[in-house]
Amino acid sequence: MTLSQKIALVTGANRGIGFEVCRQLSDAGLHVILASRDPVKGRHAAGRLRAEDREVSVQPLDVTDPKSVAGLLRAVRRQFGRLDVLINNAGVYLDEGVSVFDVGTAVMRATLEVNFFGPLSLCRAFVPLMQAHGYGRVVNVSSRAGQLTGMRGRTAAYKVSKAALNALTLIVADEVRPAIKVNAMYPGWVRTDMGGPHAPRSPEEAADTVVWLATLPASGPTGGFFRDRKRIAW
Ligand code: NAP
Repeated sequence: MTLSQKIALVTGANRGIGFEVCRQLSDAGLHVILASRDPVKGRHAAGRLRAEDREVSVQPLDVTDPKSVAGLLRAVRRQFGRLDVLINNAGVYLDEGVSVFDVGTAVMRATLEVNFFGPLSLCRAFVPLMQAHGYGRVVNVSSRAGQLTGMRGRTAAYKVSKAALNALTLIVADEVRPAIKVNAMYPGWVRTDMGGPHAPRSPEEAADTVVWLATLPASGPTGGFFRDRKRIAW
């Protein structure tokens, strides 16, 4: 790691889109902290990137556990002294196609814990550290499911969680502009454990817009919702 290298944290990075984001951020010259709920899976994922000659750090993180978030903040402060990029990628999709009348409250709460309260805790922990250094880029991996424009029935837990994440994006962006840029993005329907094998997009294609938002210049946008580097409706 060099002193001038930007430090990026990616949540839910042991597989899927998060893992590919780590690979592309590393290729863009950032030092990546690969965060994984399961430490063994995290070490294995980091090992795959190291085997490809990418230098990455690995940290355990359950985004729903305040102690885990606080522990990670301590570790990042101790090891790096700062954080430049936060990718809120970890997510769950527990109620595909289920009617709002049938989805259990426990499923609604569990989904909000990961998809909304997770990014909220991460922003509260790490954005002040970014502000202390006058630079930061936050990317919230959201979904078209969170768009209020054209929203229809079913899958309420996931849709509400991503709509809440979109609202959080606007609120945090407004409170920390201009030095810190906070944007949401929709990766498309992607071939991961979540998206399934028949999804049309690769994790590589999905990660491109994440990395673009993570490396925006000072003149770049904040408080936006993007797909394929283009703005989309909230
Ligand atoms: P994925 O393959 O299912 O990966 C999800 C990741 O989130 C895993 O690493 C998982 O860890 C982690 N995670 C879940 N709960 C966590 C927690 N409490 N703490 C920390 N990590 C946790 O999904 P993906 O397709 O890569 O999705 C990544 C993001 O893209 C999600 O936010 C998703 O909503 C969004 N997205 C995906 C699609 C798609 O088509 N795939 C479309 C729109 C949006 P474990 O391995 O420990 O479970």
